[in-house]
Amino acid sequence: TLGTARPPWSAERAIAAFERGVDRSRLRETLRNLTAVAHIAGSDADRAQAEAIQAEWAAAGLPNTHIKTYFPLLNRPVSRSLTLLAPERFEATLREPAVDGDDTSRDEEVVPTFLGYSPSGNVTAELVYANFGSPADFAALAARGIDVRGKIVLVRYGSAFRGLKVRAAELAGAAAVLIYSDPAEDGFVRGPVYPDGPWRPPLAVQRGSIMYPTFYEGDPLTPFVAATENATRLPQSEAPCLPKIPALPISYGEAKPFLAALKGHGVAAHTIANDWQGGLDIEYWTGPAGKAHLFIDNEFAVKPIWNTMAVIEGASEPDRAVILGAHRDSWVFGAADPGSATSVVIEVGRVLGEMHKRGWRPDRTIVIATWDGEEYGLIGSTEWVEDHVEILNKTAVAYINLDHGIAGDVFRAAASPSMANLVRQATKGVRDPNSGQSIYKKWNRRVGVDTPEGRVPQVQPLGSGSDYVAFLQHIGIAAVDMRFTGDEGIYHSNYDSFNWMAKFGDPTWKYHEALTLITGRVLLPLAHDRVLPIDFVPYVHELRTYAKDVAAALGGASMPVEWAGRLDASIDVFEKAARKLRKEADHLRRDDADEDNVVVDAVDGSGDGIDAGVSVLTVQGGSDDGLAGIVPQQHPKHPKHPKHPKEPKHRAVNDKLGFGERGFIDMAGIPGREWYRHVVYAPGEWSGYGAEMFPAIHEAIRRGDSAGTNKIIASVAATLRRAAGMLAA
Ligand code: GLU
Ligand code: ZN
Ligand code: ZN
Repeated sequence: TLGTARPPWSAERAIAAFERGVDRSRLRETLRNLTAVAHIAGSDADRAQAEAIQAEWAAAGLPNTHIKTYFPLLNRPVSRSLTLLAPERFEATLREPAVDGDDTSRDEEVVPTFLGYSPSGNVTAELVYANFGSPADFAALAARGIDVRGKIVLVRYGSAFRGLKVRAAELAGAAAVLIYSDPAEDGFVRGPVYPDGPWRPPLAVQRGSIMYPTFYEGDPLTPFVAATENATRLPQSEAPCLPKIPALPISYGEAKPFLAALKGHGVAAHTIANDWQGGLDIEYWTGPAGKAHLFIDNEFAVKPIWNTMAVIEGASEPDRAVILGAHRDSWVFGAADPGSATSVVIEVGRVLGEMHKRGWRPDRTIVIATWDGEEYGLIGSTEWVEDHVEILNKTAVAYINLDHGIAGDVFRAAASPSMANLVRQATKGVRDPNSGQSIYKKWNRRVGVDTPEGRVPQVQPLGSGSDYVAFLQHIGIAAVDMRFTGDEGIYHSNYDSFNWMAKFGDPTWKYHEALTLITGRVLLPLAHDRVLPIDFVPYVHELRTYAKDVAAALGGASMPVEWAGRLDASIDVFEKAARKLRKEADHLRRDDADEDNVVVDAVDGSGDGIDAGVSVLTVQGGSDDGLAGIVPQQHPKHPKHPKHPKEPKHRAVNDKLGFGERGFIDMAGIPGREWYRHVVYAPGEWSGYGAEMFPAIHEAIRRGDSAGTNKIIASVAATLRRAAGMLAA
């Protein structure tokens, strides 16, 4: 009786088996292994880790594991120097010295401090301080007659993605940029510094990519298509996302003499605005003043990177897929970023492999990935998405992202509103290790928001900064990103090490365990629930808020506020469709529950469900392209044992739930940056990490383009109606 087309697995049983398998000590050992060597994208160590993870997954029992290689443009530091020449001489060491008690930081120069995609350069010039380096900051300098053209501009980390600071400096005519970590952001102003505390020590440097995320993510030379070995590539000089001026990251310890050289020149920074004065015990001035010499030799090359993939084919709906991923590459040792998240994904893969060996099958296909090249610009995930657009479009119902998974005990989630309730639900089933209450309760207490459906923990919009971008914003797959944050000042430095994690980030590894459990409770219902746990009703409240913001922006730009009315009208239509779909889904869920009382009883006697003698369906052999598992196949029309008499009905409702997010995609894209196609969310033009809602509308308003704004509002309103049409179909 168990040889059915649909094995009797439920999300609850799978979760129970999964939770028995999760092993905290393995999470710890995995992080120890990952952080034992530096593993920057494209390095030998990076490749070795990709292979080791594949081997571990295969040994655990995952049926189809493979490594998917892409060939993006990457740069590497060859040499660099930074010298203050006047008013007095100071040569920056640009080194992060070893600290006591942390043997992973023993090798100071394992990955020299540098910025991904900074060009080489040799500049001698005066210095100017430009605060966070936003367009507004450069405008504030210009308004005071301070000319940054030809200067070396010193900006501080914080507020926006670092690449956009360089872009703003480049547009303002600067010759070079130094980006330093001000102690007000994550150094001694916040608390004791590493190794005495979790915050940034004086000589720690934040590396990072400065690729402009404005236009697209992924390999700079192959927008829209995969960076395969023989792909057609843009010439490097034509890639719009590559900075044209050199930039270097520095520590606050070494920024201090440069900032001090500005004193008395230009204007006192605090006279521009309070936040222009940083946390060092000197008076910040703008300059221009002094003289510095910056030399950077960075080598650029197209190099291989390696995504480790695993596919577990679904037993009932092999042609519907849920994807889980975390990046694996790190700037140096990468304990918090990304190791904590990578170790969780590796553990999820291992436990599901063990379950698979013992007979468990997901109903829908599960794809698990450790992405490479994220640090340079979300490359491994983006190239994979671009490589598999068609199949993903037809099969993928959700993407779950983990990155920088654990740096403390504060849970945060960002997601498509259609996934928000699933994440909330997942956190109800997991205890916060410190307080013993559910993660949900603690989360709701901290950031509860009032919505039409009550007070619920806030789920943030997805902007950019990690591997969900191509999934959500390029092709419209509902996505979620989850993490535990905390006091942390070692980001992208040599000190993001196993020792930092063991002393400050998560000494007991209980938050690693908690994130693993939450991930299981998001992933397994998506893989098993007969009716997908996706719900578009929470989108409505968000859309209404964003439409109000559009009205306000129209007013602010002296454009007709009534134009926003077209959005409201479309949102009304969308609301009707979303509520109707929720009703249909709930109705099916109720019917299923009635039925399951019979079916579930029949299997419950079989122990823990792992060795329940569930028939093993033949898994399609993997091709080395690896997506065999989600190649659309004939859906079983006549299951031998008709557990699901209403299957076609489920299929129709699930397609609306699982593919509804695609409705927000406008294939024309955002004018000027057409790779971004989601009409509701994009990384902000000048925030990068932060999302902008109804981005094309706000961009047109900011351009002061009245006719264009009117047109774009009409087009977004039409897309919202199309999205409603998909849900209501
Ligand atoms: N997560 C990386 C960072 O913040 C990469 C982000 C990106 O390139 O968009 O530096
Ligand atoms: Zn990361
Ligand atoms: Zn990172």
